[in-house]
Amino acid sequence: MNSKSIIEKKIKNKPLDYEEIKYMVDSFVNGKIKADTMTLFIRAIYNNGLNFDETLNLTDVMIKSGKVEDLSEVNGITVDKHSTGGVGDKTSLIVLPICASLGIKVPKMSGRSLGTTGGTVDKLESIPGFKSELSHKEFIKILNEVGCVDICQTKDIAVADKKIYALRDKTGLVDSIPLIASSIMSKKIACSSKNIVIDLKVGNGAFMKNIKDASSLARLMIRIGKYYDRNVICVLTDMSNPLGNNIGNKLEVREVINFFNGKYDKRLYDLVVTLSSYMVSISKNILFSSAKRRVLKVLKNGEAKDKFYEWISAQGGNINELIVEARRIDVRSIKKGYVKSIKASDVGMISTLLIGKSKDLNTGIVLRKNIGDFVEKDEVIASIYYNKEVNNMISIIRDAYELSDNPIKEKSVILKTIK
Ligand code: URA
Repeated sequence: MNSKSIIEKKIKNKPLDYEEIKYMVDSFVNGKIKADTMTLFIRAIYNNGLNFDETLNLTDVMIKSGKVEDLSEVNGITVDKHSTGGVGDKTSLIVLPICASLGIKVPKMSGRSLGTTGGTVDKLESIPGFKSELSHKEFIKILNEVGCVDICQTKDIAVADKKIYALRDKTGLVDSIPLIASSIMSKKIACSSKNIVIDLKVGNGAFMKNIKDASSLARLMIRIGKYYDRNVICVLTDMSNPLGNNIGNKLEVREVINFFNGKYDKRLYDLVVTLSSYMVSISKNILFSSAKRRVLKVLKNGEAKDKFYEWISAQGGNINELIVEARRIDVRSIKKGYVKSIKASDVGMISTLLIGKSKDLNTGIVLRKNIGDFVEKDEVIASIYYNKEVNNMISIIRDAYELSDNPIKEKSVILKTIK
């Protein structure tokens, strides 16, 4: 077997067998194949796609390139949650304690920011003292005692995915349905939860730009899940607009605190309730409607909030010490109208630049006006928290707002659910 003939086969769009895929992936992981050669292989997949068997084989090879998490010591049913990445997406920080307060175990491994999308680990690490790296023993202990735990994905889970993903990111070969499906599912299967709820983002701030492609990706991930005897639900959600009002690490944690104190953005609230209800429903095997009743109850009676504080302190975090250390500048509207949309990709891009290479977790954007709000000329629509200015940051945020003369009909953040 050699890489040249395998790449040529894929360029000619002929299906590859398990051994050929394994050869390419393993050789890349152990350094026998260099990045340039692997790029040719990934590009051939990107251009020609993979059939279901090939996608499954790629997933399997990537799972076996690392270790599979041992959850045998966990007392109770486990559920995992994954977001394909968005702007202002802090749902994990809220959904995990909701499920844990209802007696479900949520062992989660999260990623860091990628492209213009934020990463849950960065958000958690913005809380002073929070430990995102734990030993297996600590991970299981917190899971059993608190009910949820979230750490940085360990180096030994789906090792091949990590290397291939970095290459795809560098070479612009990310938005391929079979590559995304195998990347996400290899990690989720290796993390071992029986139940998996995926928040599949759709829109200009997400990898999937339209519902048709997102639906294909959802069906593919569900089919892969079935093969490994996992229950997978995909919730397709809007990511043309940022989620909630705050974008940026500490700012998003602040929004989570406000959320638990009853001050929330409606789209964020709807998404949190929907995802949590699916997680509870799939884990307890109960109807979505009765799961939702339980979710609303723990949000109302404060049990989810208490669980949030318990979880953060179990991982060493001290919420009371969270201080946003940044300068603030307001963005004012140059005209009046109703907010029709706020371009997530542009807000995400500015947020990423504000965070910068030095990983300044204090920076970000607070949307003072959100979808449907009326704005007067000269009124403040957003605030930028910065320590180093980014070129044109004020005008880009201002231009991200699309205003309409007419009131805006409310559009649900939930686009579709596929089971
Ligand atoms: N998230 C992943 O984990 N992998 C992808 O390929 C895209 C999004």
